Amino acid sequence: MNRKILETENVTVSFDGFKALNNLNFSMDAGELRVVIGPNGAGKTTFLDVITGKVQPTEGRVMFKGRNVRRLPEEQIALLGIGRKFQTPRVYLNLTPRENLELACNRNKNVFSTLFGQPSSSERTTVKGLLETIGLTLKADLASALLSHGEKQRLEIGMLVAQSPDLLLVDEPVAGLTDEETENVGDLLLALAESHSILVIEHDMEFVRQIARKVTVLHQGSVLCEGTIDEVQNDPQVIEVYLGEPMTTAEH
Ligand code: ADP
Ligand code: MG
Repeated sequence: MNRKILETENVTVSFDGFKALNNLNFSMDAGELRVVIGPNGAGKTTFLDVITGKVQPTEGRVMFKGRNVRRLPEEQIALLGIGRKFQTPRVYLNLTPRENLELACNRNKNVFSTLFGQPSSSERTTVKGLLETIGLTLKADLASALLSHGEKQRLEIGMLVAQSPDLLLVDEPVAGLTDEETENVGDLLLALAESHSILVIEHDMEFVRQIARKVTVLHQGSVLCEGTIDEVQNDPQVIEVYLGEPMTTAEH
């Protein structure tokens, strides 16, 4: 059993000579909740793109559960157990949260049974548990269009979990959320971290403080420093690269 769920070795991504990732070395343990932060343009989104196979590294290796996934197509990497949540929610607004979760549970199954069949009782149990986990039991049968932005984010995190990935990648889950919704999403990620490996890309320092155990700071495509939130926030290099950019501002 490999204790490292994810490792990158000397990963470089060049866009016409510009290095969005520059000799990036990163690793996280199975079961870890890791937060990656960094100023605009640091390479955070490119980092997720490389892990999921959307972007090919120019140099270096990406290892998932000890297996080199470089050059595998995106769909195959997803099937190996990497699930990604994008910044904007992608739920079906005309379906209810329960129906959205049922579809997500069924994603690997026959499309016809998904559309016309009844969910099996084990799926219903899973959906019921997921609705509780994401705090949407009371709104399970309303159209998802009626949910707040924060509730949609939680629903989409639930849909990601429904696909049982081994590693959850979450891109800026609290951008544009109210303080209360931010805290709810933080509590949800902490609850999921009990049983999942999670990599969160984030810019909101307040939120990072709520959820982070270990933080990695990216800058110009490389790891600038790693440590607890207090360690990185007091690191002179980190303060310098964030100068002129408020640390709490949401970025897109
Ligand atoms: P972050 O998410 O940390 O803000 P990105 O990973 O989006 O940073 O981008 C890192 C750098 O790479 C930025 O300077 C960006 O302009 C550049 N970049 C990202 N994608 C491309 C691309 N497809 N072509 C050219 N440059 C890109
Ligand atoms: Mg980005």
